[in-house]
Amino acid sequence: MNKGDIIKRGYWLAAILILLTVLLAGCKENYSKDTDGTNKKGNKTAAIKSEEFIPTEYDSTVTVNVEEKTLTGILKVKATNNTGKSQDKIYFHVYPNQFREGVDLVGGFWRQIIDVKSEPGSMAVTEVQVNGIKGDFEIKDTVLEIPLDKWKKGEAINLQLNFTMKVPKNNGRFAYDDNTIWLGNWIPIQAVYDERGWVTDPYHSIGDPFYSQVGKYTVKVSVPDNYKIATTGKEEEAVKEQDGLLSYTTSIEDVRDFAMVIMNESYQKISDQVGETTVNTWYLASDSEEAAKQNHEAGKKSLAYFSKVYGHYPYPEYDIVRTGMFTAMEYPGLIFLPKNILESNETEIGSVVHETAHQWWYSMVGNDEVKEPWLDEALATYTTTRFMLEEYPEYGAAQLEMRKHMTEGTESFEKQDIFIGSPVDKFTNIGSYSQLVYQKGALMLENLEKEIGKEKMDELLQNFFKEYQYGVATSSDFISVFSEELGPEAKEYFESWLTGKEPEFKQ
Ligand SMILES: [Zn+2]
Repeated sequence: MNKGDIIKRGYWLAAILILLTVLLAGCKENYSKDTDGTNKKGNKTAAIKSEEFIPTEYDSTVTVNVEEKTLTGILKVKATNNTGKSQDKIYFHVYPNQFREGVDLVGGFWRQIIDVKSEPGSMAVTEVQVNGIKGDFEIKDTVLEIPLDKWKKGEAINLQLNFTMKVPKNNGRFAYDDNTIWLGNWIPIQAVYDERGWVTDPYHSIGDPFYSQVGKYTVKVSVPDNYKIATTGKEEEAVKEQDGLLSYTTSIEDVRDFAMVIMNESYQKISDQVGETTVNTWYLASDSEEAAKQNHEAGKKSLAYFSKVYGHYPYPEYDIVRTGMFTAMEYPGLIFLPKNILESNETEIGSVVHETAHQWWYSMVGNDEVKEPWLDEALATYTTTRFMLEEYPEYGAAQLEMRKHMTEGTESFEKQDIFIGSPVDKFTNIGSYSQLVYQKGALMLENLEKEIGKEKMDELLQNFFKEYQYGVATSSDFISVFSEELGPEAKEYFESWLTGKEPEFKQ
């Protein structure tokens, strides 16, 4: 997610309110307690990228009713027990259920998503089959629990979920407006099992509270023939069905989620090739064409740059799509742009670059975005500025200037035990989250870069990428990559910043 556009609106007033809120809040835990001794290499989280790990296969057939804003479909899942022991349950995240009628979505960030014009949505699982036999299941908030009859270590099971979804009307990740239905976090995805057991965090309002492993997705979507779609994958040629529907099929491996946007005929597209990847920018005929072109260029350039500097982008397509979401948001192979970016020539290309950076940090190298949100956000923020300083120097300089202001006074949060390295549920508002996780996190990386030089920094981030591509990395994994090369000072440096102490880096 990109916080720049939110911050500009009344930042100083917000900062004062945040300060007051934070002073009134009391937090006890801290980063070192959360992570102490649990994130060593070779633990179950790191083993996610090991050879024994067999990715889950998702195969879904969905029909979209664009009038009713509903999705009806079937999801078949082939899941292998990678947990290292027998299990009697499996869990899936069903995030659309957060927006069901009666849920009190106040506090945190929800007010920005759910305004007075909002309408609820829902997700109903109507049947679950386990190896072809109808089974029990229970949905608790945004988590689906399916009991199993002893699921042995290494054994594969075949599940089938029949579902219907009503898309809510709001400004969030899973919503619709007059021209678009944008579906972020819609498809049920398997919860991660790590050293804590099954991780079934709630849908927090702050941050992008997701945690998943890579899987293989095959999705067949039917929409009316005057609609188009963009997805995490690359769609094959559309096939005409009965009743004036078109079906698109896409299949993609090594992605940790599958997002999708359904667009009416008002949408236009700019397409170009970057290496083996087709980059598409989708915008409305009523949008500024100039803004669309500038965003498209920034998307292409940053994809090529990050591919060259940090590691190759291996997917066939990258979609940049205008939606009605209030901010920009990253998904594997697909990013949402908010409408304000494309409505005028005052482009905010930093958002496109930030979400493109997430294709490396979050998408290809995964992390627990609830427990350690800094790992993808600070890296996305730092690498965005790194790119901007070279390709759009004025924007890059402005980002550094903003960073300087936004990291002033953050000691007040730290006095309350809220640090760069804190989990999302420690943050009570978007201001402290943005200032610490994004800005101060990026400053931590920039200050290190000043000491060790750009080349060394790039080399270490390449090593990190290589080691954890398609896996899940923890803070400790990241720090290990740096301290292996730079010595124990690097460990001390990161741990101090992550817990609010900010030492100099000395070699
Ligand atoms: Zn982000």
